[in-house]
Amino acid sequence: MCAENLNIRNLVKNWKVSKSIHDAGWGMFHLFLAYKCELNGGQMVKVKLHFTTQDCSDCGKRVKKSLSVRTHVCPDCGLVLDRDHNAALNIEKAGLVQIGLIPAI
Ligand SMILES: [Zn+2]
Repeated sequence: MCAENLNIRNLVKNWKVSKSIHDAGWGMFHLFLAYKCELNGGQMVKVKLHFTTQDCSDCGKRVKKSLSVRTHVCPDCGLVLDRDHNAALNIEKAGLVQIGLIPAI
């Protein structure tokens, strides 16, 4: 399982998102995820990344978008995905590279 290694302390300084981060209890959520992964013989990989929502998970092109834009539309390869789904694919790919299961591009 791969998760973005979010700097929660820095994120809560942003007043626009701090309440939702506190409400979600992300730090505790990551702890539970790591526990469940290890319990089931898996491994949780924390990935420190930038541009997970900006980069196209299919071709790698950086597609800049504001936080309010919820859909990733790539002008190069035509990929259309929910913004969070695109980010999740980027995080998964980076995690697999980090533990050596797929080669870095
Ligand atoms: Zn693309």
